Amino acid sequence: MFEREIKNLYEQIPASVCRSDCSKCCKDMIQFFPSEEKNMGGYIWDGKCSHLKNGRCSIYQNRPFVCRLYGTSAMLTCEGCTPERLLSVEGTLSLVREYNKYRNGEIADAAKGERYRS
Ligand code: SF4
Ligand code: SF4
Repeated sequence: MFEREIKNLYEQIPASVCRSDCSKCCKDMIQFFPSEEKNMGGYIWDGKCSHLKNGRCSIYQNRPFVCRLYGTSAMLTCEGCTPERLLSVEGTLSLVREYNKYRNGEIADAAKGERYRS
């Protein structure tokens, strides 16, 4: 599921370039769902994201949904970003709804798997 639906969702988020000396949002804890964590190669937070290396995201192509929205949405603006366009509030909410649908489906599937194993 991840490959197709989630990548399609990621592609609807505008590309953006971060200011070279900024890693502000990588110091907050982030949310993601299990296949995103797998796609990221795991996640550890110790005051900053474990994928922040030398002030840059070391897994940029595999970063999760929330990292892609930061600075590219009218709901999550940041001064250091230069997005190719800004997602409107309505456009952002529509993507978030879609994302939550996949996320809830994946969590429900994982819970079913746990039940069948036990
Ligand atoms: S999205 Fe904005 S706050 Fe986050 S690292 Fe890029 S420039 Fe900094
Ligand atoms: S995955 Fe990359 S962009 Fe997202 S918080 Fe970690 S270092 Fe920052």
